[in-house]
Parts: sequence; structure tokens; C-alpha cells
Amino acid sequence: MTLRPISRRRFLQFTSASLAASCLAPSVFAAGSLPRRAIGMPFPNVTLPATPPPAPAAGSVGFAVVGLGYYGMAIVMPALARAERCHVAAVVSGNPDKAARAAAAYGLPDDAIYSYDNFAALARDERVEAVYIVLPSGLHADWTEQAFAAGKHVLCEKPMALSSAECTRMISASESAGKKLMIGYRCHFEPYNLHAMALMREQAIGKIRSIETLQQYRMGPTSPADNWRVARALAGGGPLEDYGIYGLQAALYLGGEMPTHIRAVTTQPANDPRFAETFASVRTEMQFPSGATATLFTSYDTEPGRNLVAVQGELGSLVMEPATGYDGQRLSLTKNGSSEELAPGDPAVQFHRQCDHFADAIRDGSEIIVPGEMGLRDVRLMEAIYASAAAGEEIAL
Ligand code: NAD
Repeated sequence: MTLRPISRRRFLQFTSASLAASCLAPSVFAAGSLPRRAIGMPFPNVTLPATPPPAPAAGSVGFAVVGLGYYGMAIVMPALARAERCHVAAVVSGNPDKAARAAAAYGLPDDAIYSYDNFAALARDERVEAVYIVLPSGLHADWTEQAFAAGKHVLCEKPMALSSAECTRMISASESAGKKLMIGYRCHFEPYNLHAMALMREQAIGKIRSIETLQQYRMGPTSPADNWRVARALAGGGPLEDYGIYGLQAALYLGGEMPTHIRAVTTQPANDPRFAETFASVRTEMQFPSGATATLFTSYDTEPGRNLVAVQGELGSLVMEPATGYDGQRLSLTKNGSSEELAPGDPAVQFHRQCDHFADAIRDGSEIIVPGEMGLRDVRLMEAIYASAAAGEEIAL
């Protein structure tokens, strides 16, 4: 990778308001794209539990789940029900029928159903101590702030927000409210990724020379009017914030260092309604102080689907594919000419362990390993990635 560092001042110009205005902000709304406000949406393709979960244990933290989409109902609500120290105490939705069905499935009374319009009333609801934000990414900042204003702790899905300014606001709101903020980086609770982190910490393949990540799939026909994931106001640049963030995270938690230089290229094909507002692909090269490099590729426009994290070291290699999914992880370690497949645990535990980690922080004051500051760090790096792509230059951090 050739280094052509640009000055810190130039970098800051890119990553501040000018970047937000030119690159990522919802400045230009295509006619008919989804609005940057919370609205009710249809029931997703999710099967609700046939019977409500048992009554929560004493001291369990009650959560309001905000946003009843696929991840909220298929993953977050079951995870809260499975966790030892958490439970679903309320739902917040713009679709009353969907909210009523979800509430009934979790044994919630009618007065535990909230809409986006009466969200502030949560402040008086002592059954709810925390809020889990599972809304489209462009709504994370506003609703996190509203949750802190209502005096609740906040677990917010990834990406934390669409700009570092939003992330900073969220962290300030957490501090002012004296309430905890955590980001839904579930891989930090997933046995394969945890084992890979431990192997890299103990230098199982010697010094790391390079990291490669691929997070890609081909999105079917859609448009910003139908799908928030391709609407700039709700998704930022698109695949990087949504899927590529897993590769970015893995490069950092396996490499164990922050990049010094970033060079990136984005692609946005013309006349494709899927990519009228967002990018189709983002390719990033990063250089680290140790001399290691990383190549991250993410796309909504590539077959076959891939979810790869591969690390090449001076003595061997570590490959995870699928690397960061809900399940089906595979991990192989190659060293001294022989490879072994490792199976360190059940990936399914990641969801409820993440919830219990937050409950531990709330109840016991223990440290959050995926705090708002980590979300901010990653959003800053994504801003640098977009700044590099927009400038056609490498950025020195
Ligand atoms: P989804 O489209 O299935 O659900 C989003 C829900 O948000 C909708 O159903 C609706 O209830 C609500 N909503 C409110 N205002 C909306 C608007 N203006 N447009 C669209 N929906 C609106 O999305 P999802 O896959 O559940 O993703 C939600 C969040 O969860 C995102 O931040 C995403 O990044 C995150 N997520 C995380 C993971 C993970 O593995 N950690 C996986 C999937 C999604």
C-alpha cells in the first residue's frame, strides 16, 4: 500500500460537518424514500413464541424493545427472555396490531404497549429500567436520547449511529442522565469470535501480517422507498454500516491495534434503483503500527454471499467462515503445516449473554466491554473510510 498521508487538518475537514453534508447525511432525499422518523411497519417474517416466557427472576432488568422488526422480534425479544437477568417488560411500535401480538406472546399487559407518540410516558413506568433500540440505524441517536430523557439505560444496536456527531450526543446524553449505554456488538459474546480473539492475543500464529474480511451478499430488487437499508437517511452509506461493520470490528479485535492509514473506494452503479442513495460496495485497506495490513470488502451487490474473516500470521493462519453470523460459525487454525477445525461453543449464546452483560453493568456496576465509546470509534473510522473514498486519497489518522 503506497502511503500518501494527508494532513490532520484536511482529514478533520473531511470527517466533520463537510463530510456529513457531502457524503453521508440525508441531505438529498429521493422522492418517496423512507422518512427519517419512526413509523409503523408490517409484521416481519417472524414466528412468535407459542407460550409466554416464565415470570422473570427477582432483580431481573425489564427492557422496553423499541422497533418490532426482524431483529427485534426474531432475536432480541427471545434473547431477553432467555437471559438470566433480563426480561421483556414493554414494547414500542408504530403498528398497534403488531405490538399487541408481540405483547401477548410475551405475556405483557396492554399498558406495557407504547407507541412512538407516547414514548415519553415510559419515564413513569417502573417496570422498565432499560431500552433496547432496534430501529433503523438513522433513528438510533434520536431514540437513544429520548430513552435517556425518560431515565432509562440504553442498549443500542449497531451501527451506533450514522455520524460521530450523533454518537457524541448519545454519549453526552448517557452521562447527563447517569445511565448506561452499550452497543449491540454481539460477536464479543460469541464463542468462536471470543476464541479467535484469545488465539490472537496469545500469538497462536505469530505476529499478524494481514487480515482479510468479506461481508457481502446480493440484494434483490428494491429501492429507498421500500427498504430502509438502501435509504441514505436511515442507512448512511449502506453496506458498510450494516454488514461491513462486522469485518471492521473483527480487524480491530483480532489485530488488537488501531489503523494509522486508510484508503478506500466506494462503488455506486448508475441507474440501479437499489443504489439510488447508497453505495453498492466499499473496499478498504488499512495499515497498522505493527506493519500489519487489513483489506475489508463489503457489498450488497455480490454473489455468492460471504462472511469471511481470515488472518495471516508469520507462523500460520486463522480462518473463520461464516465468521460473524447468528449461527453456523466455522473456525480453522493452520500452523506447522497442519490444520485443525475448532468448535469452541454454541454461537446461539451470544444474544442472551450480551443482554446479561448489560444487566450485570446495571446491577453490579461492572464494566461494559462494548460501550458507546467503541461505537463512536467505529463510526469515526467509517467516516475516514468515506472521506478517503470521496477524496481518492489515502488518509493518515
Ligand atoms: P427491520 O426492517 O426488520 O425492522 C426495523 C423496524 O423498525 C421496523 O419493523 C419498524 O418496526 C421500525 N421502524 C420505525 N421507523 C421505521 C422507518 N422509518 N423505516 C423502517 N422501519 C422503521 O430491520 P432490522 O433488521 O430488524 O434492523 C433493525 C436494527 O437492528 C438496525 O439498526 C440493524 O443494524 C440492527 N441489526 C442488528 C443485527 C445484529 O446481528 N446485531 C442484525 C440485524 C439488524
